Amino acid sequence: MTPHVEPDPQAGAAVKAADRAHVFHSWSAQGLIDPLAVAGAEGSYFWDYEGNRYLDFTSGLVYTNIGYQHPKVVAAIQEQAGKLATFAPAFAVEPRSEAARLIAERTPGDLDKIFFTNGGAEAVENAVRMARLHTGRTKLLSAYRSYHGGTNTAINLTGDPRRWPSDTASAGVKHFWAPFLYRSPFYSANEAEESARALQHLEDTIAFEGPHTVAAIILESVPGTAGIMTPPPGYLAGVREICDKYGIVFILDEVMSGFGRTGKWFAAEHFDVVPDLLTFAKGVNSGYVPLGGVAISAKIAATFDKRPYPGGLTYSGHPLACAAAVATIQVMEDEKVVQHAAHIGENVLGPGLRELAERHPSVGDVRGLGVFWALELVKNRETREPLVPYNASGADAAPMAAFAAEAKKNGLWPFVNMNRTHAVPACNVSEAEAKEGLAALDAALTVADAHT
Ligand code: PMP
Repeated sequence: MTPHVEPDPQAGAAVKAADRAHVFHSWSAQGLIDPLAVAGAEGSYFWDYEGNRYLDFTSGLVYTNIGYQHPKVVAAIQEQAGKLATFAPAFAVEPRSEAARLIAERTPGDLDKIFFTNGGAEAVENAVRMARLHTGRTKLLSAYRSYHGGTNTAINLTGDPRRWPSDTASAGVKHFWAPFLYRSPFYSANEAEESARALQHLEDTIAFEGPHTVAAIILESVPGTAGIMTPPPGYLAGVREICDKYGIVFILDEVMSGFGRTGKWFAAEHFDVVPDLLTFAKGVNSGYVPLGGVAISAKIAATFDKRPYPGGLTYSGHPLACAAAVATIQVMEDEKVVQHAAHIGENVLGPGLRELAERHPSVGDVRGLGVFWALELVKNRETREPLVPYNASGADAAPMAAFAAEAKKNGLWPFVNMNRTHAVPACNVSEAEAKEGLAALDAALTVADAHT
């Protein structure tokens, strides 16, 4: 794929100048950033105004699950804009009804009612509000290694350092350790032990918090931003049992892991677990128009059958976003995108990344499934000392910056978080593109090796 437009550095400079003058960027020290001016994108690639093309191994922020500019989704948005570009949420309109039906048909179990939001954080906010009202309790338990969004309660539920500056924005959030064998908080020797110890730790946490005070436990089915840590067999089923035992609402956050990312429609299917509430966003419409939501079980929905649900958003179930969701789900069915993601994981990315780990001493761990993979980079494979310290910035983070720069030099846009790189291409990435990405990672890992 080649860029459709001629390089135009002057136009790029103008875009960049206006950005630097007026756009206030997320999660950034405004004076220290240098965002790339992007001229266009298609499929798995995007390109800048200088004519450089990049294979996007980040899927944006892990959301362009069917790649950029899929013609059928673009056409569906255009068609909907021509018919009915917007309509308020209290009315039944076709794209909204149809999107809800298609999502409910694909979510596990009896998660058959859909509350629409504009993204993941709002979905999390509303899920916990539903849980609190359903139980009449206030406390929320979430994992240290987690990301749940940037709004007040969602950022408090998040475990990573972005929580720290707003730690007290929402009351009643407590953190616990979820299983992660490579850096086991429980010093376990194997997955069975890790699962059992993590479940015991969770139950102990509940006992000390007071079971009657805990409204919800929220977990990502496969934690994404925190490092793509597939839970060991039995863990999520065990959490389900604990929730049932104490009358706690079980929320699975599938904002990142849903809609094909793990090679299933939802990651919960890998573990045969049905939560009470499931949050989604991102892949639901590949992010072409902002959309998220909560899939609600019959039990929780019944709470708000005669009593009003005190929550809503002006753009809830926006027709353009829902039309994009309907088209995206149709494309995923027609083009067997979910099955393809599983195939790429099993036959290309998984084996390819493991092969890289054999040759590169900087790779401490390879883990993932579908098109959802992490490489954990280390200074020393024996001690597992991370290549850069936790939450490193500036000079401390230089080895990861050098890794990323080399990837970009080789035409790959990598996802980098702390000492990890995630290989999270579109679910419909071709075998050839996945192999191209592996070759670029090979070159970039050689640079990381120099820091071991
Ligand atoms: N939950 C999870 C698991 C996520 O990965 C994210 C976003 N990365 C969010 C919630 C928040 O979604 P949004 O940025 O759309 O608010």
